[in-house]
Amino acid sequence: MSTIRRNAGRIRLSRAAAAFVVLVCVAILALNGWREWTSRQAALTTAESNVSNLAESLTQHAQDTFELAEVLVIGLVNQLEAGGTGPGAMVRLEKAIKLRQVSLGRIHGLFVYDESGRWLATSEDVDPAAFNNADRDYFRQHRDSADKGTVIGMPVKSRSGGQWIITVSRRFDRPDGTFGGVVLASIDASYFAQYYEQFEVGPNGAISLLSASGIVLARSVNNETSINRNLANTPLFEELRSNTGRIFYYISPFDHVRRLSYYKPSPRFPVGVLAAEAVSDVLAAWREEAILRIAGVLALTALIAVLGSYLVRELDTRQRLVAALMASEADFRRLAEESSDMVMRVGFDETIRYVSPSCARVVGWTAEQLAGTPALASVNPEDAARVQETVEAVKRGERDEARMLYRTRHRTKGEIWLETAMHATRRSDTGEIDGVVAISRDMTEHKDLEQRLETLARLDGLTGLANRRRFDECLREEWQRAAREQAPLALLLIDVDYFKRYNDRYGHQAGDACLKAVAGVIASQARRPADRAARYGGEEFALLLPGTDAAGCEQAGERIREGLRALALPHAGNSTIGRVTVSLGGATGWPTTDRVGDRDPSSLVAAADRALYAAKRAGRDRLMMAGQVVPWPGAESA
Ligand code: GH3
Ligand code: MG
Ligand code: MG
Repeated sequence: MSTIRRNAGRIRLSRAAAAFVVLVCVAILALNGWREWTSRQAALTTAESNVSNLAESLTQHAQDTFELAEVLVIGLVNQLEAGGTGPGAMVRLEKAIKLRQVSLGRIHGLFVYDESGRWLATSEDVDPAAFNNADRDYFRQHRDSADKGTVIGMPVKSRSGGQWIITVSRRFDRPDGTFGGVVLASIDASYFAQYYEQFEVGPNGAISLLSASGIVLARSVNNETSINRNLANTPLFEELRSNTGRIFYYISPFDHVRRLSYYKPSPRFPVGVLAAEAVSDVLAAWREEAILRIAGVLALTALIAVLGSYLVRELDTRQRLVAALMASEADFRRLAEESSDMVMRVGFDETIRYVSPSCARVVGWTAEQLAGTPALASVNPEDAARVQETVEAVKRGERDEARMLYRTRHRTKGEIWLETAMHATRRSDTGEIDGVVAISRDMTEHKDLEQRLETLARLDGLTGLANRRRFDECLREEWQRAAREQAPLALLLIDVDYFKRYNDRYGHQAGDACLKAVAGVIASQARRPADRAARYGGEEFALLLPGTDAAGCEQAGERIREGLRALALPHAGNSTIGRVTVSLGGATGWPTTDRVGDRDPSSLVAAADRALYAAKRAGRDRLMMAGQVVPWPGAESA
C-alpha cells in the first residue's frame, strides 16, 4: 500500500517537474510571441497613422490646389461674362491671364475657348488660332449642360505641351444666357506626383490622387504609366468606397503588393488621395530584428527544454533510486526482524544504529537498551583485540565480509559464545564504507559440545588416559620444548605381562577392569603438570616425563611396579607370581637445538621400545633402561 503511494508521489513529482519545464517554455514562447505581435502591431499602427495623416493633409492640399484653379477660372468667367469676347476685352483678358499664371506657379496654364472650341486666349506661348478643343469631354459637357459649376476633368495630354494635365473648367455664358465658351485651368499631373514623392512611404509605398470615378490623376510612383488608369471596376475601388476615411488593407491591382492604406475624398471636389505603404516595408525593420530575437528565444527555450528534460529524467531516476533504497531497507528490516539471529547495523563509529528484536534472546538486552551503545562493549577482553582487528579490517575495506567467534556477556547468563558474520555497508551516493551489518548467533551450546568432542577425541575411553593421538602430539611438543630448553625428556613404555592369558582366564570385562586399574597406577606417577600418562595401544601404556633424567625415569618405573605389587591384582596365568605385573622399557633423550634436534622423537620411542622388548625377554616384571638417547651427527638414534 505504502509502496503504491510512494510510487504515485514519485510519478506526481516528476510529472509536475516536467509540466513546469513545459510551462516555462510555453510561457517564454507565449510572452515573446505576444511581444513580437505587439511590436509588429506598433509598427503597423505607426504606419497607419502615417498614411492617414498623409492622406488627410494631401487631400487638403489637392483641394487647395483645385480651389486655387477654380478661383482663377471663376475670375476669368466673370470677366468674360461682364466684358464679352470682343477684341478689346480679349486683350485685357490675355493680360489678366498672363499676370495670374505667373503669380500662381502650380497652375500650369489658363485657357479660354469659344462656343465652337476654338482657342480665344491662353497663358501658353502658342498661337491660339491653331487649336480647337471642341472634342474634349469637358468642353462637350459644358456646352451640353447649363450647369455653371466647376468640372474637374480626366487627365488629358496637353495640346500645347504634350504632358499629362488635369483640367479645372467652367462654362461662361453670353449676355443672352446662351453658351459662350469654356474657361479652363490646367494643372500639370506631375506637379502632384513630384509633390507626393517628397513624402516617405517606403520603397513600395505610393500616394495617388484619384478622381471620384476611379481614374488615377497622379501617382508618386510610375506617374506616367499610372495616369488615366481606370480603377472603377477593380476590387481596390470597391475597397476605397467602402473604407473612406478608414485604414484598410488591399492587394494592389498594379504590382500585387499588399498595402495598408487610407483614402480621403475631398468634400469639395470629386477627387481624393490614397496614401499607401507596403506592409512588407512597414514590417521590414521589425522582421529583421524579430528574426534575431525569435532565434535567440527559440535557442534559449530549446536549451531550457533539453536541460529541463535532463533534470526531470535525473529527478525521476533519483526518486526511483530512493524508492528502491527504501524498499530494500524495508526488506532488510523485515528479514532482520524475523530472523532468530541478532542483526545489527553498526555505524563507522562502532555504535549500534539498529538491532533486531532477537537481541533480547541472544544477549538479554532489548533493542531500545542497545541502540546507540558501543557494539563491542561486552566482548571478553581476551577476544577484544582480535575482534577489534577484524572490525577495523572490514571498515578499511580490506575485507568485504568476515566471520568471527568470540565470547561476550549475556545480561543474565554470563559468558556466552557469539559467532558473528560482518559485511561492510556503503553509502549509496559515494560508495564509501559507512559501517557494518553484523549477524550474531549464540554458539555457546555448540562451543560446549565442541569442547566435549575435542576432549573425547583426545582421551582413551576405557582408561581416561590420553589416547595414542594425544600422546603423539604431546611427545612432539615436549620433544621440541626439550630441544628449546635443553632439558632431558624421559619416556616409559609399559606392557602388561601375559595379558592374553588374563583375558582368556578372567574374561574380557575383567581384562578391561584390569587395564583400568593398571592405568590408575600409571596415572598416579604423572606427578608434574607436564607429565602425561597415555594408553599407547591395547594393554600397552606410555608415561612421558619432561625434564626427567634416566634416574628419575627409573624411579618412576619402579614406583609403577611397586604400585601394582601393592594392588596385587590376581593373575593366575602370570607364571609363578600369580598377580598382574608389567614390563617397562625406559629411555631418556637430550634433544639438541641443531638440525638433528628438530627431528621427530621416534628415536626416543624406538629406544624405549627396545628396552621394553629386552625386559620381556629378560623374564618380564622388570624395568629396563635404554642407553641415554643423544642425537649424534649421522646417527638416527643412540
Ligand atoms: P606378553 O607378556 O608378551 O606381553 O604377552 P601378552 O599376552 O600380554 O601379549 P599379546 O600382545 O600377545 O596379547 C595382548 C592381549 O591384550 C591381546 C588382547 O586380547 C588383549 N587386549 C588388548 N587390548 C585389550 C582391551 O582393551 N581389553 C581387554 N580385555 N583385552 C585387551
Ligand atoms: Mg602387548
Ligand atoms: Mg602384554
